[in-house]
Amino acid sequence: MSEIVTGALFMFIFKETSRNAYTNDRRDAVFKKNYERVFKMKLPHPDTVDDVLRVLPPDELETLKATLVGALFEQKLLRRFRFLGKYYFIAIDASGTHTFNRQHCPHCLTKTSKNGVTTWFHYVLEAKLVTSSGLAISLASEFVENQPGRNYEKQDCELKAFIRLAKKIKSFFPRLPVCILADGLYPNNTVFDICRQNGWKFIITLKDRALKSFTTEVNLLETTAGKRTVFRRNKTEMIQLEYRFLNNIPYDRYNYSWVCCTETKTGVSDKKHKDQKFVFITNIEQTQDIVVVTADGGRLRWKIENEGFNIQKNLGYELEHKYSRVSFVALKNYYQILQIAHIINQLVEKSCEIAELISQHSKQTVTALWKDLIAFMKTVPLLPGQLQTFLSG
Ligand SMILES: [Zn+2]
Repeated sequence: MSEIVTGALFMFIFKETSRNAYTNDRRDAVFKKNYERVFKMKLPHPDTVDDVLRVLPPDELETLKATLVGALFEQKLLRRFRFLGKYYFIAIDASGTHTFNRQHCPHCLTKTSKNGVTTWFHYVLEAKLVTSSGLAISLASEFVENQPGRNYEKQDCELKAFIRLAKKIKSFFPRLPVCILADGLYPNNTVFDICRQNGWKFIITLKDRALKSFTTEVNLLETTAGKRTVFRRNKTEMIQLEYRFLNNIPYDRYNYSWVCCTETKTGVSDKKHKDQKFVFITNIEQTQDIVVVTADGGRLRWKIENEGFNIQKNLGYELEHKYSRVSFVALKNYYQILQIAHIINQLVEKSCEIAELISQHSKQTVTALWKDLIAFMKTVPLLPGQLQTFLSG
């Protein structure tokens, strides 16, 4: 089993993008020998990997992922990214993984467009730890999926999946101080209750017409809001950020805080203005001291889309590639292995060693380095013990 999982893992770590590309590398005698020398394991045939991933219960690999991530917490590697010195930002977001023009499996979700074209698809709800440095580490994943034989009128949905996802996070990381970051779909009592029961904090995007009684109260009190203004600048823009907050705003039976951040960017050369407004509801009582980190934290949520899904789809991991065309179990297993590979690569890519290689010349990129890695594996036959020399060098 170690051979199978390691083989599949390295397909993603090497950013091979398809089973075919991996099969070709495997045919390369030097690559195969190097792999076996480095990992002290056989390189399994991708078809064998596929056979196993079609029957392995997906919980197994998800538990493996949670154990690995748990070790990162234990080693205190992520402590410096905590919010208010205590909470980890956990961003929640859903993303499509696969689309088909026929029914792929009994768990497929389906929709029919206005012009009568039906598509089948899968999508997944992710809880990822996000940091200001750009890490997006998968803590738990929950597929939005139909139960076979059920009426398609009542399909599974993101909010139902969130209830299951929250249970997973709590069971994998029972004592983890969590601050949930989520988009405009999430400010509702179901989510607030789950956070309250689990002892989690949250910073959730509030859209214009959401939570009517709450926003009405906010509008009445807005002139009395606490304020703080911050100036920042980068190479091309001057940025003025105005933060405002209100506490003890009732909604249903509980009180929450309101946070608003208005950002005005002015071009250094063209003096053009660009405005953006971000509004959040949170269960963290606001003060002038913490309103900036709270709103900036809320805005970290987009990292799950960028550093998380976008990189996994478009930069080497081919999240949407149909690694398995028929099996939903295999699809889920490849997905979990991809998450683990991406965690490992993120930590490698942010290491001092890689940073040094990147800084060697202006055109050097992570993509180019990974191509070199494959080329190295294919062309430089390692002698026993030589890897240790390379690594210690
Ligand atoms: Zn399916």
